[in-house]
Amino acid sequence: MKASLSIKKQFVIFFLFVAAASLILLSLILRTAIEKCFHDYVWTAQASSHGMIIKYFEDYYAKHKSWKNFDGREIGDTAKKSESYFTVTDPHGKLIWTTENDIEPCCLNPEHKYWRDIYPVMYEGTMAARINIGQFTDHIYSPEDIAFRRSIAYGIGISLAVTLLMALPLLLTVSSRLSRPIRELKNAADEMSHGNLSVKLEKNSSVKEISGLAESIDHLRKSLLKQEELRKQLTSNISHELRTPLNIIQNQLEGMIDGVLPLDKERLESVLQEMERLVSLIREVEKITEVESGDFIPVCAETDLSAAVKAVADTFEGAFKRKGLELVLDLEKNIIISAEKDKLTQTVMNLISNACKFTEKGTVSVKTYESPAGAVFEIKDTGPGISREDMENIFERFYRVEKSRSRDTGGAGLGLAIVKKIADAHGWKIETESEKGKGSLFRIIFR
Ligand code: ADP
Repeated sequence: MKASLSIKKQFVIFFLFVAAASLILLSLILRTAIEKCFHDYVWTAQASSHGMIIKYFEDYYAKHKSWKNFDGREIGDTAKKSESYFTVTDPHGKLIWTTENDIEPCCLNPEHKYWRDIYPVMYEGTMAARINIGQFTDHIYSPEDIAFRRSIAYGIGISLAVTLLMALPLLLTVSSRLSRPIRELKNAADEMSHGNLSVKLEKNSSVKEISGLAESIDHLRKSLLKQEELRKQLTSNISHELRTPLNIIQNQLEGMIDGVLPLDKERLESVLQEMERLVSLIREVEKITEVESGDFIPVCAETDLSAAVKAVADTFEGAFKRKGLELVLDLEKNIIISAEKDKLTQTVMNLISNACKFTEKGTVSVKTYESPAGAVFEIKDTGPGISREDMENIFERFYRVEKSRSRDTGGAGLGLAIVKKIADAHGWKIETESEKGKGSLFRIIFR
């Protein structure tokens, strides 16, 4: 696994990197801007000193009209003070005066190159001489200029250091506020993975994503708890479903062998009934195993929904009559859906069978109709109803509301689990409405 760093460390590294990069960039920009201003300022000063030298020559020529006895020592000394040297020639190139023989390298810095500018010396519109003024680049900064530049560089450096020092505690606080709840959530998730589902999760974080994550983990914890509960119940329910008929068969057979019970048709029929119960349980288990297996894909074909419902309802006519229940059918014609016919029949059968089994008096209404969401099958009864808590579990395998697992109402608690698996495999939606004591409604929307 790739070595990973804690949020806090990543934050600090990231912050230091961003801070250093932005500060370096900022200081480069500032430095360039200041250098440019300085350069402009120095070159303006230099230009005025050049102007002064040129003017000296123009004034001299205006006065003497010739360069014959020109003595450039005085202006040469003045120019040297501003680190400038010059050479003056007449328009034909003949040397008048030069101070460039005395040039001394300004320093040992090879970057400081000697740089020359050429200017004309004008008199009444004609050129009286040509003057070359030169100086060493970068040596035009005075010691005060250099000190000023250095103090600005220090200023930038110090402000960078102060900014970093001030921001670091703030950053550590923010990163701790982020990493602490995540660390706690990780510890809670570790506990959960070791089977401790009673861990307490802190869901109040100032960071929206973290409280969202805590909510999700808590949701996961609750559903694992529920699964755990159901798993325990499932084991006891299965053993109950198997034990009851097997005990009855065993007792009956032992009684008959010992001569305590008469070996007659009635006894044998009762044994047979229990055997049938076991066979039907195994059939149900086979059905759910089939639809539950990962590779179950329904082989769908266009199917007439109302015709399929009518066919199933007809088989229940006798059962409803025997219980004195009214079965009302309200089936819209020509509703064609895409379904595996056997599985559709199984679904409708399980729902009608439950309505008939659990309703003691009143009516069971079965409807089919088209809705904007798709074709609908709906079954409503006037039975005992299902509480909200039980409603969350009735689609689980072997779940029965009657905890006594009364044998009068038959089923092993697999009917609705089969319905759910078939619906999921087809992409159908199941909706339920029920209130304890007021009957139940199951609706399947064929999308
Ligand atoms: P069973 O084989 O017991 O019918 P199901 O999976 O079909 O199993 O149903 C699970 C439980 O849901 C039933 O035991 C019953 O308690 C409850 N139930 C299902 N349908 C109805 C209904 N129409 N009215 C009341 N309770 C119902």
